[in-house]
Amino acid sequence: MRVTVDSEKCQGHNRCFALAPELFDVDDYGTAVVIGDGSVPADLEEKARLAVANCPEFAIEIEE
Ligand code: SF4
Repeated sequence: MRVTVDSEKCQGHNRCFALAPELFDVDDYGTAVVIGDGSVPADLEEKARLAVANCPEFAIEIEE
């Protein structure tokens, strides 16, 4: 699994970072970015789905 953030859609609420700091970071402009290449270890897949469900801008996508 991989996560991506669409920086055009992201409004910087930082919910993803609050929910899954292992997967997301925030850049200098307050926009979310994925950590590394966005690969999600198996034990963090649930957190990745939680972040997708909690992003109000629908900016996070999962690639299986
Ligand atoms: S929750 Fe969505 S809109 Fe908010 S920082 Fe994360 S990707 Fe951006």
